[in-house]
Amino acid sequence: MERVTLRRLDDMHCHFRTGPLLTEVLPFTAQYAGRGIAMPNTRPRAILTGKDVAWYHDGIMRVLDGLLNRPTFEPLMTIEIRDNTTPEMIVEAQNAGAMAGKVYPLGVTTNSNEGLHNFSGRRVSRTFQAMQDVGIPLLIHGELDQERTLVTQREEVFLPTLLRLACKFPNLKIVLEHVSTKVAVETIKQCGENIAATITAHHLCLTLNDVIGDGIKPHHACMPIPKGFADRDALIEAATSGNPKFFLGSDTAPHPKERKECARGACGVYTAPVLPQLLAEIFEKAGHLDRLENFTSRFGAMFYGLPLNEGSITLTKKEWMVPNQIKSVVPFRAGTKLQWQLA
Ligand SMILES: [Zn+2]
Repeated sequence: MERVTLRRLDDMHCHFRTGPLLTEVLPFTAQYAGRGIAMPNTRPRAILTGKDVAWYHDGIMRVLDGLLNRPTFEPLMTIEIRDNTTPEMIVEAQNAGAMAGKVYPLGVTTNSNEGLHNFSGRRVSRTFQAMQDVGIPLLIHGELDQERTLVTQREEVFLPTLLRLACKFPNLKIVLEHVSTKVAVETIKQCGENIAATITAHHLCLTLNDVIGDGIKPHHACMPIPKGFADRDALIEAATSGNPKFFLGSDTAPHPKERKECARGACGVYTAPVLPQLLAEIFEKAGHLDRLENFTSRFGAMFYGLPLNEGSITLTKKEWMVPNQIKSVVPFRAGTKLQWQLA
């Protein structure tokens, strides 16, 4: 097959950032996606309230409106759920256009220093209850940073918390974001229809060896940290299996080059400039190119109850070289060849 046409993508997990970086990175996703979930862990202003949602939405729209050939792209807005988020704030955020709430457990990733302490606290339980009542999904960075737990184990030790939440709020839609382990994939498969997971393109490519096994590769460092071969195999199997519980959330997470290449480098992989091209390569290698569109453009919309995107993109099989750097950021697969191009 030399050409593939896909319905415009839904990227259900994006970090668009703010300020100049937003202007730099947003056009890539908007080029091929009809929608993208804008994650709320922005700085200096995090997205915590309805007012923040409106402010961030305006900022994104301003960048889109400034683009030549304004693409048909809709940002899907979220708020960050913290210990002090109230049921009233959920309703207010929903009225302002938020379609989901995101939880970062304390200390597990970029800008999670004010993350949630306690998933079973009385106050946050009322908030989760409100989310269930008004039909706002809960998106979870599913890792726990606890004493004597290696970074490679953080996702696995979170899974009992996920199961407790699923049990306590049986009608709450929950997405375990960027799953990275075989055990998480198995857990999601066993949960009800209201529990799903996103999978990134880079977790379908990388193992821990690609991060620290042959020199330290800061541009492969991300949270959750890429794991072992059996874990990666399980992710590829889940993404290409046609199971609607698994859909695309790229977690494209740009940081300026100097923030990655330093003594305490930031975590995050910038896949937006190569995403559909890379996914075509992965699905083709797995022998399931025919299932790519379900993963990128159908299952996410089905889970969130959204209409399918209009319009399509075409990929052609033609080798190209990913640039070493795109403006201030080093993209995933920089300086290497990809087999598919966006037409
Ligand atoms: Zn993320």
